[in-house]
Amino acid sequence: MDKIKITNLEIFARHGVMPEETTLGQKFIITAELFLDTEKAGHSDKLDDSINYALVCDNIKSYNKTNTKKLIEAAAEGTAENILLSFPKVKSVRLELKKPNPPIHLHFDSIAVEITRSRHRAFVAFGSNMGDRQAYINGALEKIKSDPKCTVKKISSVTETAPYGGVEQDNFLNGVVELETLYSPYALLDFLHKLENEAGRERKIRWGPRTLDLDILLFDDIISDDPVLTLPHPDMENRAFVLEPLCEIAPELIHPALNKKMKALRANL
Ligand code: ATP
Ligand code: CA
Ligand code: CA
Repeated sequence: MDKIKITNLEIFARHGVMPEETTLGQKFIITAELFLDTEKAGHSDKLDDSINYALVCDNIKSYNKTNTKKLIEAAAEGTAENILLSFPKVKSVRLELKKPNPPIHLHFDSIAVEITRSRHRAFVAFGSNMGDRQAYINGALEKIKSDPKCTVKKISSVTETAPYGGVEQDNFLNGVVELETLYSPYALLDFLHKLENEAGRERKIRWGPRTLDLDILLFDDIISDDPVLTLPHPDMENRAFVLEPLCEIAPELIHPALNKKMKALRANL
């Protein structure tokens, strides 16, 4: 992908563990590679079609002035996140934050961290079959919408479906939401678990009744067989209550492990 590179931007900040670092402050040096598509701006020659690197520099400077961290890891994390939140055209950022004069009594050039952070595309299935089902679903969607690290792109319609998995229980309301998110896969799972807990979710029987169930169906093109987070969701291709709403919002989406479009998987059911 194309990139715009800001090299060795000098800023003054008070990050550090030592007291003199937080009181006196010191120089930090930041290099940011902003990955985006520059082709449109390349042809139009208009700043609106690209990003204004002067504004990015101001953004980096003001973030580090107003947010003091003990660790350069935390300063880099916050700086990268703030760039992604402020500049929607930036798809991914590689950021190096360097402390040229660390307070230790040995001689070396500098200490630095380098991280890469990106926007991700995730599809999350939601379901409820206890209490005020629609209210649990609406509550979760509102919390997702108001989380700064998530942008809701599309929401399917919500439909009533018969229970799946052999346990005798009430009908479900099900649907799927498409997100753009700055969370990593495990951080998104933690966030969704928090929303389930806030809806009073209890885990008693496997596939049993629940106030709220939030499953990550797909996260970019990641394939993983970790039981804590299996991607794509291991049983999605067998579930009409997942594929129907998913096909409503993303019929052309390709299942990265089965290498088939969602509409083909639904037709195979
Ligand atoms: P199923 O996953 O078959 O739909 P379930 O939703 O009823 O069943 P839960 O009790 O909600 O299962 O979750 C059990 C565990 O599944 C969670 O603690 C979570 O760590 C793990 N898990 C693995 N992959 C995923 C995924 N893609 N999305 C959500 N949870 C997952
Ligand atoms: Ca589930
Ligand atoms: Ca679940």
